[in-house]
Amino acid sequence: MATVAELLSQRQQLLATSDSPALDIEILLCHCLQKQSSYLRAWPEAEVPEQTEQQFQALVQRRIAGEPVAYLIGERGFWSLDLQVNPSTLIPRPETELLVELALAKISDKPSAKILDLGTGTGAIALSLASERSDCEVKACDVEEGAVALAESNRKKYGLSNVEVFQSDWFAAVNGQQFDLIVSNPPYIDPDDQHLQQGDVRFEPRSALVADNKGLADIETIIQQASAYLNDKAWLLFEHGYDQAASVQALLIKAGFDQVFTEQDLAGVDRVTGACYTVKKGGA
Ligand code: GLN
Repeated sequence: MATVAELLSQRQQLLATSDSPALDIEILLCHCLQKQSSYLRAWPEAEVPEQTEQQFQALVQRRIAGEPVAYLIGERGFWSLDLQVNPSTLIPRPETELLVELALAKISDKPSAKILDLGTGTGAIALSLASERSDCEVKACDVEEGAVALAESNRKKYGLSNVEVFQSDWFAAVNGQQFDLIVSNPPYIDPDDQHLQQGDVRFEPRSALVADNKGLADIETIIQQASAYLNDKAWLLFEHGYDQAASVQALLIKAGFDQVFTEQDLAGVDRVTGACYTVKKGGA
């Protein structure tokens, strides 16, 4: 039988595939052993049962072929949650936590705020907001049936009764409801972007990544339709691509929003743009 240390040394095989071979190997081994990473450090000489090793070797081979670690273990940490993930939708990214942080700040003075998350995927944004604000009513929709099922399963995992997950093509099934905050991490990658051919994104659904019009088509659709679904002084916040802040700001201004802002993620990249909607009084 192989030892823990011997199996960890297989990180060498991942050098060509992964930016984080040591971490990937640890996560895969912990998953197969059903142990925390502290176990690997405490017991490098421990022998790994044959069946567990076989399971581990199969996952290593899939990782060598490029499959994302999160899909291999079916899980990814986001905010304070461990979310189930699968290839029906995007793997939650750390930079999306900025959107959660800013959204929470925008509703900090609004008790029982009504929130809508468009294109919820795993439910990452909606469930994080709901877990922080049990007084708020959160609606989360996605056009993909698989994503709706996944988000609902994540909702159940955390018993978040203040979230409703449903299927909708953006606002199509939202039916005359109004919100104090609408958030979205829609597809925003330019179909010609070279980075679609590299790394984890190759295994994620194109429908969750790519949008026409240099990646701006879905953001534009949402901005054009949003005002009918926003209360007075409500906020609309997007995650977007590194070079899209100016375009998203221009779309928001054109649609009559005010207090337009952009924030950078931890890598110093423009990542979230948002604005406030003021209901026009007495206008035609
Ligand atoms: N940030 C992701 C990436 O660049 C894309 C997420 C999205 O399209 N919403 O891989």
